[in-house]
Amino acid sequence: MCGFFGVIGSDNPACQEIYEALVCLQHRGQDAAGIVTHDERFHLKKGNGLVRDVFRMKNMERLIGSAGIGQVRYPTFGASNTEDAQPFVVNYPYGIAMAHNGNVTNGDEITSWLSQQKRTILHSSCDVELILFTLAVELSEIGGLEPDHEAVFKALEQVLERVKGAYSVTALIARLGMVAFRDPHGIRPLVMGYRDNADGSRSWACASENIPLEIQGYSGIENVNAGEAVIFIPGQDPIRRQLVKSAHNPCIFEHVYFARPDSVLDEVSVYESRRQLGRNLGESWKKLNLNADVVIPVPDSACTAASTMADTIGVEYREGLVKNRYIGRTFIMPGQTARTSGVRRKLNAIRSEFEGKDVLLVDDSVVRGTTSRQIVELARAAGARKVFFASCSPPVQFPCVYGVDMSTRAELIACEKTEKQIAEAIGADAMIYQTVEGLREAIKSSGSDLHYCAACFDGKYPTPDVTASTLSCIEAHRLGEQKRIAESHTADAHG
Ligand code: SF4
Repeated sequence: MCGFFGVIGSDNPACQEIYEALVCLQHRGQDAAGIVTHDERFHLKKGNGLVRDVFRMKNMERLIGSAGIGQVRYPTFGASNTEDAQPFVVNYPYGIAMAHNGNVTNGDEITSWLSQQKRTILHSSCDVELILFTLAVELSEIGGLEPDHEAVFKALEQVLERVKGAYSVTALIARLGMVAFRDPHGIRPLVMGYRDNADGSRSWACASENIPLEIQGYSGIENVNAGEAVIFIPGQDPIRRQLVKSAHNPCIFEHVYFARPDSVLDEVSVYESRRQLGRNLGESWKKLNLNADVVIPVPDSACTAASTMADTIGVEYREGLVKNRYIGRTFIMPGQTARTSGVRRKLNAIRSEFEGKDVLLVDDSVVRGTTSRQIVELARAAGARKVFFASCSPPVQFPCVYGVDMSTRAELIACEKTEKQIAEAIGADAMIYQTVEGLREAIKSSGSDLHYCAACFDGKYPTPDVTASTLSCIEAHRLGEQKRIAESHTADAHG
């Protein structure tokens, strides 16, 4: 999961808008950040860390131009090298800069096509490079020296045909304009909008969520559709084209965890979805015949659902856990060591809300169970008599191959355990989960008839290329990455 923002035709320096947008999208990735702008040429700055840590005034002064794109990265395979930070730029045969959110599932195939048939040398392990080089190669074969928008659409058709997986992308093509496109299943979100400039011209922007557009005065905010590409040329209305027709299967986990609660994704309010998730959990709780004195959310993404769950069961909602907002989300920190120590640094308990009480904790999800166990320990250390644990999402039983680091099946606590065994493993007195049907119903009741991807819960991957054998390959690749990272940490410790 990453976040990006692209802008063209702005009457502000593009880098300022992009910086504001990336701060707004920081929840989507805290591992690295980057901005590239364009005037006569590209100006790039990227690095590891939070947006506020990567960019200094001297960097911003150098990022000139009224068009640009930026990205905050969450490492897909645990990679956290500076070379993997986005955007990426290619200078030949055309100047193209690109940033994305997602994951390519046939990376090995694209890599060998690029290297063996097109003599391309890749510089990183980041899969946006695969999309970027595929576009550059296709465009050079279709577009001649000065490709127009028709050539770009044709080249993008080839990209969507060749590259499998989940990806929302924005790119700048020098001397043409900005492009935004979404994979044929529209798994990762992508919106666009416009703002009227003082001189009567229009500035256009695209982003992973609507909020960075809203807060910067953009209107007419709408989706880029699954399999659609949009080309923004300064001084013209955007040119839109449906390149591939396919089922639209957006990621359902965006509504539980990733997106900001004030976001609207594919015309569904994340806040309303989360309210319904809490009501569902409340109804399930009533059937268990258990009593809680207080409902306490694990901040921040579970707060909305916890409040409606508390209402539904008639128990007080109390904010008994306090989050240090200046520490990165542990789920998106690379490496198990950082994850383990991060929870205690991030959360603290208000003792009076726990002491002598039967506490119902509500969290957005339980992935490996490591974080949940530490939170239960925290509640007990604060004096809770009983600790019940509710998960706003269903049991996570399958890895995500579409850009969310959910590791391998063996590491997922719900993969082979019952709810009772999971409760024991995390030290809770009882465990309660959302059902997959309840999750789908919550989105539907908030206004969508789309068939969402819920593969990490039900194992039904919407892209046909993901089979049992590709899953095993992807898992083997991840295990290799984890081993490499563990070895590099050991080497660092001894270095
Ligand atoms: Fe989202 Fe899960 Fe599908 Fe990944 S597998 S895209 S996290 S719903």
